[in-house]
Amino acid sequence: MTNLVTFNVSLGKNSYPIYIGNHLLNKLSRFIPNSKYSRIILVTDKNIVKNNLIKFDLSKNYNLDTLVYPAGEKTKSFQFLNDVIEKILRLGIDRNSLIICLGGGVLGDLVGLASSLVLRGVDLIQIPTTLLSQVDSSVGGKTGINSKYGKNLIGTFKQPKSVIISTDVLKTLTKREIISGYAEILKYSFIKSKPFFNWLKKNGRKVISLQNESCIYAIKKSCSIKSKIVSIDEKENGVREILNFGHTFGHAIESITGYSNKINHGESIFIGMSFAIKFSIFLKLCKNKVLFDYQKHLEEIGISSSLKHYNININVEEFIRHIKFDKKIKKNKIKFILLNDVGKPVRFFLDNETLLENFLKGELK
Ligand code: NAD
Repeated sequence: MTNLVTFNVSLGKNSYPIYIGNHLLNKLSRFIPNSKYSRIILVTDKNIVKNNLIKFDLSKNYNLDTLVYPAGEKTKSFQFLNDVIEKILRLGIDRNSLIICLGGGVLGDLVGLASSLVLRGVDLIQIPTTLLSQVDSSVGGKTGINSKYGKNLIGTFKQPKSVIISTDVLKTLTKREIISGYAEILKYSFIKSKPFFNWLKKNGRKVISLQNESCIYAIKKSCSIKSKIVSIDEKENGVREILNFGHTFGHAIESITGYSNKINHGESIFIGMSFAIKFSIFLKLCKNKVLFDYQKHLEEIGISSSLKHYNININVEEFIRHIKFDKKIKKNKIKFILLNDVGKPVRFFLDNETLLENFLKGELK
């Protein structure tokens, strides 16, 4: 095990450590308080099993059961939530049990939700295995499943006991999945840190090609930005909202395309951020230079932020309808996270829908 980085998400009695390093899974029991748990239920997905990522054997020290689920966004549904809860209950779980989630953001959201509901809450350790889940979904305690009305509309806040991030597991990810995770890394720089964006301009390619040092730095920086925001505002009553930059448009795109393989979460977020920057410019909140820098960076690392690239056609009415489903309505005003500049987000409450309509008419023609 090399260069273990540890830091804390400070949330009072719900505080927890994040461990970041390489080959942490071989030594997993080190990160589990031994005396505490009578049994462990490991929940993972088929791709994790196929890629031999279960590199540990906890059955020597614990009463262990493993549940394996299909991969993909469609697993974030009531059907699978019900299934995982029923199976966990059938195994005879008690309050001294631990649930470990080994997988990407889909599994993390589903298992996080299940672990917050079963027996009104059972301990959970998140072991994220995609770049996206390592920099984002495993930290901060949001859980969720999707509804036909939109993404993540059913969920809870459930902080894990710890998050264990082992970068070696990323090697079996497809390039497409790595790039998807990069969307959230780039998002952190745009909402919080121009110096981080400048660093990404130089090192983004290294992150995407999983060069260890750059990759660990980007993960550490992202987790650190997210955990600081979450520490201030655990339940998203204020500053945490800036993490939704690009997501109001992005979630609408995912919802319209039926959470299909046509476009994944991160790809939608790249486009969503592009829409958010363009809308900021349309509203005269920020300068064209921000869009220029964003697009230049994406071009340099070979990422598209255009719906056409994914063969997606959306009409204005449909887009607005789905944007409104995205939990961002307050007193009939749609809430957007927009930008004044790189590192300077701004909340914007839209009270005149015609503005959005006119903006989208220009962008979607
Ligand atoms: P994912 O969980 O669907 O994983 C992507 C694919 O990679 C899946 O097919 C999975 O089986 C496979 N996979 C996972 N780890 C692998 C590995 N190491 N090697 C090979 N294959 C592997 O997708 P994701 O991008 O991790 O997560 C997206 C989800 O996260 C979305 O549902 C999104 O809404 C959610 N999310 C939640 C939060 C939050 O705060 N809770 C934040 C951001 C995103």
